[in-house]
Amino acid sequence: MKIGIIGAGQLGRMLALAGYPLGLRFAFLDQGTDTPGAQVGHIVQGAFDDPAALAELAKQVDLITFDVENVPVDAVRDIAQQRPFLPPVDALGASQDRLHEKTLFRKLKIPTPEFAAVDSLQDLQAAAKRIGIPGVLKTRRLGYDGRGQYFIRSADDVEKAWSMLGTVPLIYEGFVNFSREVSVIGARSTRGEVRCYPLSANTHSEGILRYSIAPYNNARLQKSAETYLKRILRHFDYAGILTIEFFVQRGKLIANEMAPRVHNSGHWTIEGAQTSQFENHVRAILGLPLGSTAAIGHSAMVNFIGTIPTLERALKVPGVHFHSYCKEPRPNRKLGHCTITAASATARDRALRSLMKLKVS
Ligand code: AMP
Repeated sequence: MKIGIIGAGQLGRMLALAGYPLGLRFAFLDQGTDTPGAQVGHIVQGAFDDPAALAELAKQVDLITFDVENVPVDAVRDIAQQRPFLPPVDALGASQDRLHEKTLFRKLKIPTPEFAAVDSLQDLQAAAKRIGIPGVLKTRRLGYDGRGQYFIRSADDVEKAWSMLGTVPLIYEGFVNFSREVSVIGARSTRGEVRCYPLSANTHSEGILRYSIAPYNNARLQKSAETYLKRILRHFDYAGILTIEFFVQRGKLIANEMAPRVHNSGHWTIEGAQTSQFENHVRAILGLPLGSTAAIGHSAMVNFIGTIPTLERALKVPGVHFHSYCKEPRPNRKLGHCTITAASATARDRALRSLMKLKVS
């Protein structure tokens, strides 16, 4: 059985590394061969919307999945006729447009920030008036890791925000004064089996995930998160891993966005859960029994962004698991991560402080 992955980033590499022990093989579609996926599988070179490259990938594999969200849905609808394509194209499409995504949350009765479509300065002024300031103006499409966002803190920012972003369709959202950010990750198999991981608590800066701790033990929030996740899984007759990121405000979850794929906030599951998100994604799309999502102890995961410590230095931290994606360092580029799993939350938090020191190179 050979799986094709559109996108050969670190997520694709970790999917392949999880699939090899199951006897699976992998090929990737990506523009370049200098990618993490190329270290572990054959690359079909081409753009994500290149019909010839997509057809070549489809020819080489039995089933197709993806490790990025910016896969043009119109381009993949064709190959989804030729090979099983999972998670479903419609879930991919919904996640690519913040307006569609939030409209879906609303339809499925999943709380989300107040929002409005913005296609003109007048729309933005009206939205800011109705929803209020502060708020966040975001591009509807192709925004990730904080890109394509402008925080509007006062009425003076409205025109500035419009002049920065106003060339593409936008969404204005009310600012959520959250106490923390959490994410839920779950798998649904083609047979309809569902398993959810314990919540991760995530800390971002400049829109990029810096570190996560898991499990974030809160039975009430866990239950709500799973209820919301299952609504989306059912809605799309979904197969694979799905992630929802939430704000926690006054003890309630407010959905920010969903990702129809394995997620950075779930990297801790490689060492910190009975079955990693990567293995469960592969199991789910192949219709295999899902593995237990239970946590093993208490985990922390720290991203290395822009710089990465030397192996020598990182491996001095007792119990550390080090993952380098072997990428050229560049500002704001995710170059690797490390995880630690401890017997207690106190020991985990102590270890997290050591991991955070590693980030200072
Ligand atoms: P996003 O690209 O939507 O994931 O946003 C990146 C980060 O910006 C989030 O993880 C939050 O820390 C922050 N953020 C985004 N939207 C809002 C909002 N409506 N209110 C407050 N903070 C936000």
